[in-house]
Amino acid sequence: MIRSNFFRHVAQTSPSPMGIEISKAAGNYLYDQKGNKYLDLIAGISVSNVGHGNPFVIQAIKNQADIHLHTLVYGEHIQHPQVMLAKALSTTLPETIEQIFFVNSGSEAIEGAMKLVKRVTGRFEIIACHNAYHGSSHGALSLNGDEYFKRNFRPLLPGIRQIKFGVIADLSLITEKTAGIFIETVQGEAGVRCGSVDYFYALRHRCSETGTLLVMDEIQTGFGRTGTFWGFEQTGIIPDVVVMAKGMGGGMPIGAFAASSNLMASLTKDPVLGHISTFGGHPVSCAASLATLNFIRENNLPEGIAAKEKQFKQLLQHPKILEIRSAGLLMALELGSFDAVLKVIDYCLKQGVITDWFLHCNTALRIAPPLTIQESEIEMACRVILRALEK
Ligand code: PMP
Repeated sequence: MIRSNFFRHVAQTSPSPMGIEISKAAGNYLYDQKGNKYLDLIAGISVSNVGHGNPFVIQAIKNQADIHLHTLVYGEHIQHPQVMLAKALSTTLPETIEQIFFVNSGSEAIEGAMKLVKRVTGRFEIIACHNAYHGSSHGALSLNGDEYFKRNFRPLLPGIRQIKFGVIADLSLITEKTAGIFIETVQGEAGVRCGSVDYFYALRHRCSETGTLLVMDEIQTGFGRTGTFWGFEQTGIIPDVVVMAKGMGGGMPIGAFAASSNLMASLTKDPVLGHISTFGGHPVSCAASLATLNFIRENNLPEGIAAKEKQFKQLLQHPKILEIRSAGLLMALELGSFDAVLKVIDYCLKQGVITDWFLHCNTALRIAPPLTIQESEIEMACRVILRALEK
């Protein structure tokens, strides 16, 4: 009944949805209506960093729900969870980045940041990378680096140029005409592609030289996933704008872009209310996000990531695994074909392990579990994946 109504009444985005009928989610596991238990190796696409239904997050949600929900559009009332979250976030960021503009999702945060770089610089050209993924709304889609996802939605935003991620020579395309460059710290949907420290230094230098704002998309890499609170900490550079969402809410919808108060001030004049949102920084989402941030810090989650990444890599030795690309617990197992990836996903699902592929790289298997995954669970997951590869 529910299943047929799902297909009949819930608008579909995929010809073959995973279709598990969720009855419960707790810790590192999802449970279905038939009583099956699944170890979640993708964390709702890098969302459930602190585990599903984290008790601290749930308690924060319940407490805030008792106090107040929405009161007025973003930015008018002083709401405690919002202020406390903004303050806490600013302590995770470089000193120069002390203001947070709250929205509801990753795409929305990208949209806000796109407007910010245009407003601040008075320029309209924006650069993004080939194979980038920044979201699905019109502006964010314009930055998308894969033509297949864009071509039937044109015309998109004008003035967008694409460069190759990680290629220093391409940085010369950033000029005095460029308002901003949007770049993932680690390209997620491209199948986990990392840039070198030299690349990020050259990028920072070129942006400063041309007055271009450097916007780092931490939507998938933030909140501890790569082994530091923010992925860019490992590049040694300081961006002008940081965009966040996904893991930020501990399972609740929230996004934000962060920048200096100097840059942000441009959104308050000419026009006033330069960027607005009804629900941005919803108090319950902010309370959940603050609990998430505190949980990550108090439990030193980022510190344990390197050992977990290493354990996965040591156990996942198999001739059919052509390469493992990883940035902490954001990992891609290169299997060489979509068919091979689908077979592994299918087998793993039947064995109670949830994996996935990547939007711009369907030849690789996605592994991005909750950061709370335990040694014994990694062992079990790897055993199942290796068995799948034997089939
Ligand atoms: N940027 C990156 C790097 C992402 O991975 C995603 C989502 N996969 C987005 C932006 C868009 O976020 P949302 O789906 O919340 O709009």
